[in-house]
Amino acid sequence: MSDERPVAGPASLPRVTYSNIGEDFSGVHAHLDAVIAEVKDGLLGQDRPNLVAGRDSRDGSAYVAASPIDRGLPLGTFFAASPEAVDAAVRAARKAQPAWARMGWEARVAIARKAADHVEARKFEIAIACLIEVGKSRMEALGEVEETIDLIRFYATEMEANRGWDRPLERANPREETRDRLRPFGVFGVIAPFNFPVALSAGMAVSALLAGNTVVFKPSPMAGLTGRLLAGCLIEAGVPEGVFSLLCGGAETGAAIVAHPGIDGIAFTGSHQVGMAILRGFGAGGVHARPVLAEMGGKNPTYVTASADLETAAAGMVRSAFGLQGQKCSAGSVVFVHEAVRAPFLERLEAAAGALVIGDPCERHVFIGPLISEAARQRFEQSVAGARAAGARVAGGALLSGGLFDRGAYCQPTIAIGLPDDHALHREELFLPFLTVRSFTELDDAISRGNAVRYGLTAGIYTADAADLDLFLDTAEAGVLYANRASGATTGAWPGTQTFCGWKGSGTGSKGGLGTWYLPQFMREQSHTIMRERP
Ligand code: NAD
Repeated sequence: MSDERPVAGPASLPRVTYSNIGEDFSGVHAHLDAVIAEVKDGLLGQDRPNLVAGRDSRDGSAYVAASPIDRGLPLGTFFAASPEAVDAAVRAARKAQPAWARMGWEARVAIARKAADHVEARKFEIAIACLIEVGKSRMEALGEVEETIDLIRFYATEMEANRGWDRPLERANPREETRDRLRPFGVFGVIAPFNFPVALSAGMAVSALLAGNTVVFKPSPMAGLTGRLLAGCLIEAGVPEGVFSLLCGGAETGAAIVAHPGIDGIAFTGSHQVGMAILRGFGAGGVHARPVLAEMGGKNPTYVTASADLETAAAGMVRSAFGLQGQKCSAGSVVFVHEAVRAPFLERLEAAAGALVIGDPCERHVFIGPLISEAARQRFEQSVAGARAAGARVAGGALLSGGLFDRGAYCQPTIAIGLPDDHALHREELFLPFLTVRSFTELDDAISRGNAVRYGLTAGIYTADAADLDLFLDTAEAGVLYANRASGATTGAWPGTQTFCGWKGSGTGSKGGLGTWYLPQFMREQSHTIMRERP
């Protein structure tokens, strides 16, 4: 079904991850310079139907999505799936599920691995799609596609290493044969956010599939292009008809999937508000509980202690606060600085933020691209105005204008210094390149204040003091902790390297993604006890 030609790039080029910032990527940039314009032209402006029961579907209202880089660039025509299309996709998924489950985990692992190979073969094309669709920098977009490849392979290997989670149990009697199996729930609705449209969609969908569920997948309305490319990789890998459907659209389509009686579980990544509503309604609103695997927002604190290496701290803080324009669940959005190093740290931080290049992320040196939407631009204006009204000094804070800047929402990386300590901007997720600064003298008090939010996703520290590090590791209320990283204070998790579990309001479960406990959550346990005639 896929109609674009593979663009993988020379195999000798180094892989881009979120943390190998010291590598020489000049070859990667040279390759991008050579292909980006042509690949972009090939991707833009096409008709991108949904995929229902193995066939293209235009059943729904057509909408044209525009690139946030330039609102004049049409990403393509997509179709907000009608209730009938949702119903057809769920029915097809129900019909296909028993055979998909019976196929066995070995066959599903082989298909997942082929899908990873297809993503790898089209790495640059998918990364460029992600770049123009979401406004990611080159390195962020390529890193995301590499993450996707590793994610699929990691979960496939987990399935294999656990032999499909099927194992013998103790016997109470020699004639008794006992066994423990994890079995699929049935049909999973998979609902994804805009900001990691490839990796998070693939991570949720492939996990559900590996476990033997079938999938009805809805990408963000801003991310139908990468959604369709990902669907192409899965279908080319041999995912059978009906096992995976793609339905575009926004909240309405998502709500229709969630409300459909044929859905057995939801894997969701997105805002706290929507995830909690799904948990309350779908998860607990029926005659029995149903799984809602929701990964949600964050308000992620970083602590810079008196013993910190301030250069490293400023570098890591800037990457986490402003990478992808602050539109990461793991973005470092609040920094607690020890009074003794406040002035020199802020000097370095403001200088590093001021040096970031803002512009068209198709270009090599651009670190900050556009905000995703007009709503985000308004949120930025309100946040800056709110900080100023509360008496803060705001470094940055401007929306940019002129040329390309008039055709998208571009703003300066922004630091609010001196806000009252109880201000909402310190506690609410903004999803903007907006960092607030707080001060401390006692680290335990700072960590208590950093913990006092609804979220608990990531946290970071810069310190040379072992006792401070231990205190942080023991008391920070978040699922992902980092210390002393120049590549990111609170960002940069990688499959199999950092597990990613949202605590408190950042997730609905006690296990997260990217690690060994993710896949089993897509299955339910069953034991078998069989009395045989003879042992
Ligand atoms: P969002 O919650 O607005 O949308 C997420 C998805 O839910 C989209 O596909 C959307 O169309 C759909 N949706 C919206 N309303 C719905 C409804 N009523 N029923 C069903 N589906 C509905 O989030 P977003 O703006 O796309 O993404 C940003 C959010 O995602 C941030 O809060 C961010 O922190 C979070 N996020 C979390 C993680 C994580 O791993 N914890 C990762 C990435 C993003």
